[in-house]
Amino acid sequence: MTKTSPVELVVVPCRTDNYAFLVHNHETGQTALVDAPEVAPIQAALAARGWQLSDILITHHHDDHIAGVDALRGSARVIGAAADAHRLPALDLAVAEGDMVTVCGQMTQILDVSGHTVGHIAFHMPDAALVFTADSLMALGCGRLFEGTPAQMWDSMQKLRALPDETLICSGHEYTAANARFAASLDPDNPDLMSRIEGITAARAAGQFTVPSILSVEKRTNPFLRADDPELKAVLGMADISDVDVFAEVRSRKDKF
Ligand code: ZN
Ligand code: FE
Repeated sequence: MTKTSPVELVVVPCRTDNYAFLVHNHETGQTALVDAPEVAPIQAALAARGWQLSDILITHHHDDHIAGVDALRGSARVIGAAADAHRLPALDLAVAEGDMVTVCGQMTQILDVSGHTVGHIAFHMPDAALVFTADSLMALGCGRLFEGTPAQMWDSMQKLRALPDETLICSGHEYTAANARFAASLDPDNPDLMSRIEGITAARAAGQFTVPSILSVEKRTNPFLRADDPELKAVLGMADISDVDVFAEVRSRKDKF
């Protein structure tokens, strides 16, 4: 969040490793929820602050992101991908890539970030320097390819990578420690990665969240953002291989790790 932004971000841990997010605008009094993995922790976070939901933003159709939507919606506006309307809770606003919506007084840009699912979207609030990526770009990782192709996910990674460096990546799960072990196995001589992993290990030992993360750090350390990086290609012995094939190889190694 920038110094001038009236927006406050609250991370709400749900289930075993999911995150939901609350975005509250202190000037307008509005509150948006991004994904609804579980009802009780979200209700508790709202009640503790005296906030009521004005909007619910849905990233994709998996149950661990939508299970609580109908119980929490009340009079809130529910926003999700038009492409996935048939498999999401009832939408009040169906959106697609390139749409701009005002949420909590924040101009919010819709990005199609298919790959994990086809129809997965991200919500970018540039004035608050926030992007909600769920199971597309994650801290040191990316979502598994359940529906999309490596080419789709690589395209999604490049879209997210093009956002401003200071953007906070609000992703959907606490998978960072496992992602770090994989990244270290690929790229053990990357000093930025090694120092980041020290921080992750310390944070987890102290019971702290590693989400959100900062895009500038992801760009230097997340192997899924570096499929076109000559240094990573060289480390993998894939110097002459196309970017998308390198991305596919990194993703398939992670699946087997
Ligand atoms: Zn998912
Ligand atoms: Fe998920």
